[in-house]
Amino acid sequence: MTKSFADHRLDEATARIRHFLDRDRPDTPCLVIDLPTVRERFTAIRAALPRVGVFYAVKANPAPEVVELLAAEGSSFDVASPAEIDLCLARGAAPGAISYSNPIKKARDIAYAHERGVRLFVSDSEQDVRAIAAHAPGASVLLRILVNSKGSTYPFGKKFGCAPEMAADLLRLSHELGLVPLGVAFHAGSQQLDPHGWDGAIADAAGVVLKLRAEGLPLTTLNLGGGLPAGYLEQPPPLADYAAAITASIERHFGDFSPEVMVEPGRAVVAESGLLRSEVVLVSRKSYSDERRWVYLDAGRYGGLAETEGEAIAYPLVACRDGVPLPESPAGPVVLAGPTCDADDVLYQHTRYELPLDLRAGDHVDLLGAGAYTASYSSVAFNGFPPLATYCVR
Ligand SMILES: *Cc1c(COP(=O)(O)O)cnc(C)c1O
Repeated sequence: MTKSFADHRLDEATARIRHFLDRDRPDTPCLVIDLPTVRERFTAIRAALPRVGVFYAVKANPAPEVVELLAAEGSSFDVASPAEIDLCLARGAAPGAISYSNPIKKARDIAYAHERGVRLFVSDSEQDVRAIAAHAPGASVLLRILVNSKGSTYPFGKKFGCAPEMAADLLRLSHELGLVPLGVAFHAGSQQLDPHGWDGAIADAAGVVLKLRAEGLPLTTLNLGGGLPAGYLEQPPPLADYAAAITASIERHFGDFSPEVMVEPGRAVVAESGLLRSEVVLVSRKSYSDERRWVYLDAGRYGGLAETEGEAIAYPLVACRDGVPLPESPAGPVVLAGPTCDADDVLYQHTRYELPLDLRAGDHVDLLGAGAYTASYSSVAFNGFPPLATYCVR
């Protein structure tokens, strides 16, 4: 079987990560990020979507080294809080390269962002638009619309955005309040497996933008949000398919007017750069008749594996002993669980995973593709387990 470019890239990245783990032997669980992979993924997204402004969604992985690398590569940033603003500024981002994209914010946090030089905000409500006008006078605003996120692994539901006609009214209000109404934003759901998953939202956004332009409000911008996928057990379609579908959709719905376009990828930039190393705490059985072993790891739902909820994200696993991958057979089916005393701290019981039959306490189980939404979701000390430590290799 010939190996793809992606396999070779992962081989090299995994070798760098394993070299670090062998040399430094950090306590587990821990996350190791391969910075060259972050750079390569960012570059690939920018190349697939030229002329599109790339705003990295910091919440996916806020490791300072990741933010610094992306700032140096010329990325802009999507932030949700004063702490994320400070992080980006401290790591080399210009205030003008930051979008405060969280529609849920305190008035004093808006004032703080403005004081630090942030001039772009995303909103979805009248109260928030008025707060931006009061505390960030003259700033630019995008209005987020509610969209159908069919096809995504993590739909955003109804928490963010408002109906397009309300967004249009709020853009008119922004103008009256002295703000610069810039355009429309949305998020088509995270880990969007359908390259056409943005089409309905782009159609709705175009409706608002073109209508207000016809009224004389010079809206310019379309913010496509996040949702670009990463490879886990299941491989998504190639990035080029997404770029083609999105570009065609913008041309179809916007016609002669070509908007300034932004994307806010999080997962697609960092997921594939990360390996989460866990240690096997216990291997046991629940009865003599059930063939499945229960494998308890020192990493669980509260220690960085939040996205195993509903088994939505299925990480590829590699079992290792003394730093060397164990032979893949003989193997048998397992249920995987975390170390805490919480009944929900079970990672996979429906997704079929097999691990070596002689797996035992002290072996490692490495989770691949774990660079996004792991360290940033881990709890501070549930049951006394420390938060997931992150290390970066160059
Ligand atoms: C989380 C988030 C993103 C990133 O989403 P991904 O699916 O990880 O790409 C982008 N924009 C906003 C507003 C978000 O909240």
